[in-house]
Amino acid sequence: MADDDIVLGIDLGTTFSLVALVDESGPRVLTDENGEARMPSVIAVAPGGPDEQPRVTLGWEARNHAVENPHATVYSIKRLIGKGPADVEKELPFLAYAVRPGPRQTLVVDIDGRAYTPEEISSVILQALRERAERALGYAVRKAVITVPAYFDDAQRQATRTAGEAAGLEVLRIINEPTAAALAYGIGLRQDTGKAATPPRGHSPLPMMRCSDQEVGDGGDATGETVAVYDLGGGTFDVSIMRLEGGVFQVLSTAGDTHLGGDDFDREIIKLVAREVHEQFGVSIEAPATKQALRGFAEAVKVRLSQTESAELELDLGNDRKYRRTVTRDEFERLIDPFVTRTLELMDRALRDAHLTRDELSRLVLVGGSTRMPIVRRRVEEFFGRPPYTGLDPDQVVALGAAIQGAMLGNRRWDMLLLDVTPLSLGLETMGGAMGKLIMRNTTIPCRATEMFTTFIDGQTAIKLNVLQGERELARDCRSLGEFELRGIPPMPSGMPKVEVEFMIDANGILNVSAKEQRSGKRASIQIVPNHGLTRGEIDRITRDSISFAQQDIDAHRRIDLVNQVEFDINKTEQMLGKVGTLLEADERRRIETDIAALRQLAQESGDLDALHQALDRFGRSTLHLAEIGIREALISEQKKAME
Ligand code: AMP
Repeated sequence: MADDDIVLGIDLGTTFSLVALVDESGPRVLTDENGEARMPSVIAVAPGGPDEQPRVTLGWEARNHAVENPHATVYSIKRLIGKGPADVEKELPFLAYAVRPGPRQTLVVDIDGRAYTPEEISSVILQALRERAERALGYAVRKAVITVPAYFDDAQRQATRTAGEAAGLEVLRIINEPTAAALAYGIGLRQDTGKAATPPRGHSPLPMMRCSDQEVGDGGDATGETVAVYDLGGGTFDVSIMRLEGGVFQVLSTAGDTHLGGDDFDREIIKLVAREVHEQFGVSIEAPATKQALRGFAEAVKVRLSQTESAELELDLGNDRKYRRTVTRDEFERLIDPFVTRTLELMDRALRDAHLTRDELSRLVLVGGSTRMPIVRRRVEEFFGRPPYTGLDPDQVVALGAAIQGAMLGNRRWDMLLLDVTPLSLGLETMGGAMGKLIMRNTTIPCRATEMFTTFIDGQTAIKLNVLQGERELARDCRSLGEFELRGIPPMPSGMPKVEVEFMIDANGILNVSAKEQRSGKRASIQIVPNHGLTRGEIDRITRDSISFAQQDIDAHRRIDLVNQVEFDINKTEQMLGKVGTLLEADERRRIETDIAALRQLAQESGDLDALHQALDRFGRSTLHLAEIGIREALISEQKKAME
């Protein structure tokens, strides 16, 4: 069986390639049997016997054996495709395999005396991606859209097309990688931005932890806009500036560096380790296998530093010699700062070439694995003055966009990203596991909602924010879209810190959630594409469930609110007893202690919410006298302090 409508989106990358397609849940990349979406763009050729064809391996297998067999392992073929001998002088020193001129101003890779064209090598990769898709779908697929860098010339584009055809693909279109990245974020898909946003409806109030203040803003205009795509991968950096007019992208300028990327960051760690190992133990790291191992080690340290503030380095040098030290993110960022600065200089150059200022850029999309690094995001945000798009996996953005282009060409019905409203409510998990909705379902986008949150425990310095999607009242019945933490809140009594949380959905349906503690100015944020991977069927089911479980959910939510309130009141009362309890009559003090125990037990056991509500009210009244004494004593002590 074959489905003529299916069009693959292929990101044929320098180091990794991916394949994606669009189905009823929208665009998705296809993974291998280990769940890995990226396939190394590497092939290795092992000489066969005298009468045999050479044996070709590819992907991870070829990459993992590259050190043993460098002259027969072909990587970075994208650097050669469609080029002639005169164009590649600068590339050759970076390649460990032999490259020689081929017929008619072309290049060929020479492995054990046999010539392979770059198209042939690329077609092996493309064919493997096509087979991956066929395994996933269970039927043959022929059509594809393949991406290339915006600066590729006609010869390079034609060679890429030839490689696709050699892989048995009908290449419907070759599109620019930055265009694909923009499409993945829905830029260019929406003609009408639906600017007249309606305010979200009210929401059920929650005790203490949140207070309301919602507003609706303008997420921007999607027509006639300029989009910059900042692509920082392992080995290359590219920036493209495009204008989007009537749904068509036009490249205004490109800039970049074909040898700038994550490998440079790894090398800084390698240099640091090699220098210190030499200083401390007099050992030089020379052997290729050791160097290769060190490269993997350095990359792992770098990736860890994207998640944590520091990483432990430990190398066993044999003979009881151990190299050990801690690298902090700050230290690492200082090492790589010049590279990041260079990317921003190139971005400025691209803007100048496009005759645009930074302010005139409407959107900035981040692509490439290295854009996961906090320093890159921070510096780019400073440069742009606004958060760039980061909600999708930066490795997958190009393939997803290619699949979207494919779906448009294949007339596949798929309109998820084109919704003008949020199909499901969005909010945060609040104390006790309730769902606190900030943006209600069916709110027109773009829209914005803000709300104040505070801490629950005295001296609490961090708040975890779990972003939820769904209609149910409990967090566990909603879909968690992502979590982040706001740290560095100055220690204060509970309830004092003011954390403003903002939900902002722009015209493309991208959600930015940011949290800011007002006194310290500490901020944290996350970006999410809420509708990614959501089917219409799921939306319908979630909406139906919210109706069938409505009463049960409301009770559960009310119970959480009441229990939170009980805990908060008991906490405050116990604190007050500690401070001024000695000023009470022994009888009154004993009665309050008994009331606390009874209320606590009722909160734990009682299913009768009305009874709990009444008990909470009674408790408030019975501790009024204590609260008055507490306030009086606080005032006296303040006055004393003022006199001193
Ligand atoms: P790409 O060429 O787009 O696949 O990007 C690959 C580069 O991204 C490699 O240098 C990786 O080490 C780097 N990379 C991937 N994930 C992270 C991360 N979490 N932090 C830092 N670098 C990363």
